Amino acid sequence: MVYQGKWHGDERYFGLHYDLHAGAGDTDLGTRCSETELVPMLALMAPDFVQTDCKGHPGYTSWFSQVADASVPAGLKQDALMQWRQATRKLDLPLHCHYSGVWDKAAGAKHPEWCVVTADGQVAGAPLGQNAGAPTGEKMCPRSPYLDELMIPQLLELIDRYEVDGFWIDGDLWSVEPCYCAKCRAAWTAQTGLAAPPAKEDDPAWPRWWNFTRESFYAAVTRYCEAVHRHKPGVLVCSNWLQTFKNPGAPIVPTDWISGDNAWVWGLDGSRCEARFLSTRGKPWDIMLWNFYCSHGMGRPDSPWTVKPPQMLMQEAAALLAFGGNVQVYEHPNVRDGRLIPWRQRRMAEVAAFVKARRAVCQHTETMAQIAVLHSECHLYSDVRGKNLMWNVDAAPVQGAVFALLENSYGVDILDEWALLPRLPEFPVVVVPEQARMSEEMVTALRAYVEGGGNLLLTGSDLFDRFDEAFLGFRSGEVQAEKTYALPAADGEVQLYSKAWRLGEATTAEACGRLGNGCLLEDRLLPHPAAVVNCVGKGRVAYVPADLFRDFALNRYPLSRCFVGALVGRLLPDPDLRVHAPACIDVTLRRRGDTVFVHLLNRASGIPNLPNNGAIDEIPPVGSITVRIRLPVKPCQVSWALERGAVDWQWADDILLARIPAVHIHGVLVVQQGAPNTDY
Ligand SMILES: [Zn+2]
Repeated sequence: MVYQGKWHGDERYFGLHYDLHAGAGDTDLGTRCSETELVPMLALMAPDFVQTDCKGHPGYTSWFSQVADASVPAGLKQDALMQWRQATRKLDLPLHCHYSGVWDKAAGAKHPEWCVVTADGQVAGAPLGQNAGAPTGEKMCPRSPYLDELMIPQLLELIDRYEVDGFWIDGDLWSVEPCYCAKCRAAWTAQTGLAAPPAKEDDPAWPRWWNFTRESFYAAVTRYCEAVHRHKPGVLVCSNWLQTFKNPGAPIVPTDWISGDNAWVWGLDGSRCEARFLSTRGKPWDIMLWNFYCSHGMGRPDSPWTVKPPQMLMQEAAALLAFGGNVQVYEHPNVRDGRLIPWRQRRMAEVAAFVKARRAVCQHTETMAQIAVLHSECHLYSDVRGKNLMWNVDAAPVQGAVFALLENSYGVDILDEWALLPRLPEFPVVVVPEQARMSEEMVTALRAYVEGGGNLLLTGSDLFDRFDEAFLGFRSGEVQAEKTYALPAADGEVQLYSKAWRLGEATTAEACGRLGNGCLLEDRLLPHPAAVVNCVGKGRVAYVPADLFRDFALNRYPLSRCFVGALVGRLLPDPDLRVHAPACIDVTLRRRGDTVFVHLLNRASGIPNLPNNGAIDEIPPVGSITVRIRLPVKPCQVSWALERGAVDWQWADDILLARIPAVHIHGVLVVQQGAPNTDY
């Protein structure tokens, strides 16, 4: 049984995260966060929960830790944590600590024997920044005494001394790399019977070694979660990015909630996927949005940090809120004394108001299943390269499928095998984007799903081998490497590059257009179908023998979107709910009881996004949008919530037709049946 987590309650919805990664030279830290300074700044922004600095990647504490191996800055004058506790207590807010887990440079300097050892016998450096890959000794081995002698004693010290309410453990998943220390080697040999772990990423045993590393990390997180829970039940623990989109599979590690700090720029796509995946984890979750960004790489002196326009944060928050998640905002105003800045707090207060206005509509809803995109943990983890447990996870085909389907105005959820297997029959359509290494159990379940009336879309040459000619209605011919062919789309054609193209012919399936050479339409067509749709049992299966969705993740060609839309239209010609909206509107379909919520998120930007301009601001309203829902009973109320404007609607012949003139950032069409609720 998987632990389902814990949270502070529904009203703890919008959080402030503050951290400054204290270092050896910090002296002013905590001198400007007295109760009289901090309380008005927090009140101005009005967060529902607060996370504050405690120990960052340099390993130094912003409190006077008395744990024997603690690193406290020599010139530290004030206990910042004590003051944040006083202020949050005054405002009756839960307080979490930001604590860097695996990445601790100061601990590595004191105890080189605690560090991760690389294949060439060096101590491992930082995961990013100047010391990335250098032998600086900053990452802690999960089997070292670090957990028992430093991390867990400090977490317990923080609970006892400050009565903190939770921990957001930073670094962690993305700071881990394989460790070749004597303890880890011995554990590997004991588990596998192999004399030594592989040293090179092209070794056939590498994926097993990578997964051994992942499981060693899970065991370490489990250990500190259990230590905290044992010491004081009700104190919550989160490990940054654990159990998020890049870490699928049964969420067995007993953290209390799921969270990750999203990319500071170009973050909307990340949130679009996280929301659709985290909402299937069965645990409380949030995503942390940075309050600031820069146009180029992190730390470039000619591209300094600047605050995000509030509309940028609102747009990204809405993508998360629509799926029932919480949101927190990361503030780090680049002064080391611990103060919060009034004008920045005022801007975040605008975001707070936007977020809180959405709680009644967004919380405690469930998906109205339309399209499930499979994000198979078996596929991902069976062929991993690289050392990093997060950055080396290749989910591009899943992202491409989600983005292409969203641009066609469908409701999309992302499920791993753990989440999808028990829920398959709920979804009218299931998409398997280029995941040929899914489990045999998943293949068997998908066959049964189609037989029983489901509609399945498979893409990628290799998936042919997981099913067969009879199921797909497609006879395989030559498989070509690294080819580009034209797909028929809308009024023209679009080029698709694929690492592998399976040329073939339809047998029992219907061919959906033919592949072409160049852009000459009828001229130079090949005899091979671009896609096929086969009827199997009570359902249908569509097959595209190339990397359709990896391409969409990379190129986002509008004509590729049209090709995908036409194919899904064949699988689901008459859906119970259909939205017609511009491609920049994301649709999210939710329900609570028999109330239907059709969320519309406008991804447009008023100032054009360019490679050197990641800001979203002055978002222009976009419309109009029509929503068609099959409803056997006339709804008692249809309303347009959270934004200005009114909805035109009519109901006849079991069909509700609603028209919304425009969406600014995020509005919700609320369709109520039975007794109306006037809260929306
Ligand atoms: Zn080790």
